[in-house]
Amino acid sequence: MNIHEYQAKEILRAEGVPIPPGDVATTPEEVEAIARKLGGMVVVKAQVHVGGRGKAGGVKLAKTAEEAKDIASRILGMDIKGLTVEKVLVTTAADIASEAYVGIIVDRAAKKPVFMVSPAGGIDIEEVAATTPEKILKLPIDTRFGLTGYQANQLGYFLYSDPKQVKAAAKIMQGLYKAFMKSGCSLAEINPLVVTPAGDVVALDAKMVIDDNELDRLPDVVALRDESSEEPSEVLARKANLTFIKLDGDVGCVVNGAGLAMATMDLVKYYGGDPANFLDIGGSSNPEKVVNALKIITADSSVKAILFNIFGGITRTDDVANGIVTATKANPLKVPIVIRLTGTNEEIALKILQENGFSASSDMDEAVQKAVELAKGGKAA
Ligand code: GDP
Ligand code: MN
Repeated sequence: MNIHEYQAKEILRAEGVPIPPGDVATTPEEVEAIARKLGGMVVVKAQVHVGGRGKAGGVKLAKTAEEAKDIASRILGMDIKGLTVEKVLVTTAADIASEAYVGIIVDRAAKKPVFMVSPAGGIDIEEVAATTPEKILKLPIDTRFGLTGYQANQLGYFLYSDPKQVKAAAKIMQGLYKAFMKSGCSLAEINPLVVTPAGDVVALDAKMVIDDNELDRLPDVVALRDESSEEPSEVLARKANLTFIKLDGDVGCVVNGAGLAMATMDLVKYYGGDPANFLDIGGSSNPEKVVNALKIITADSSVKAILFNIFGGITRTDDVANGIVTATKANPLKVPIVIRLTGTNEEIALKILQENGFSASSDMDEAVQKAVELAKGGKAA
């Protein structure tokens, strides 16, 4: 789960990380009022779940409250990488002497959180990693001990030479680490962490990604979810208890079990197609899940063909068949459907489908190939 910059900043502030004051707004008038209250130069920042907002024109400086209002009226409603800006953060502008990068990610191979810091901040850290990897320090953390004082200083010295700034940075690292652990993050970063001309170390941007598996034990973090900023199909899927991830292709896949779903996507690729999604309806026998799955997939206009791939074990294929019939009666399909099912109650399922004008096969290769062809035909039409 992603949270917004202003939310991540609140969490970091609570851990003692120095962050310029500010507030969030949804209208230019609110922006003006906040800017007036802050006084002086402010930054108006688009709140969307995506990086690179600065380059996209979503981060702008304003000298006066009137200018902030004017800028806000342009940023609000703006499209940044497919996301509409509905909120902006208005914050006191800082003068920048240098920009550094500070981040923590979970390293799955090391099974540890790993700090990554670089004095070459502000820009894409991926680019720094690719061109000048020596400018990045990676430091794995043993969660039994947390970030030790020694390690925090080590990170600080990699960024700065002035002992005061090293000390300030070390304290910020501790705050970031605490926030990362408390909020169940898979990623937490500050980019840029700046030094002002006066020598203060301040966080100007913050990003946190929460590990979805942590959410059950963190109601306060769940409350930060902003559904209006999420992929609508993924919101629907979550509410229907389906495991769903939207992808860029045109073959809509409905599969039971994560392993079979992965194998199906591989096979779609193998036959020259592109899956539009990953969707696991799970192991239970529940026609309602099939109805919801079809609702989500048919709402996606890039889907040119639908592929069902069901292996009936605990899942009864006749339940799936009933789900398909119910869903398509309520909402007739506008794209072709290919159904492959085998296993528990296969004969009953085939009978239900045939009686309702669907054909089905039990051969996975054949079904996938057919779906890929149909999706291509749909594209050409
Ligand atoms: P991102 O592009 O989505 O990562 O958004 P950031 O919040 O990191 O802002 C992008 C860039 O805008 C930063 O790297 C800074 O160079 C600049 N910026 C952001 N806040 C301030 C500020 O308070 N003062 C100044 N002078 N520049 C800022
Ligand atoms: Mn940034």
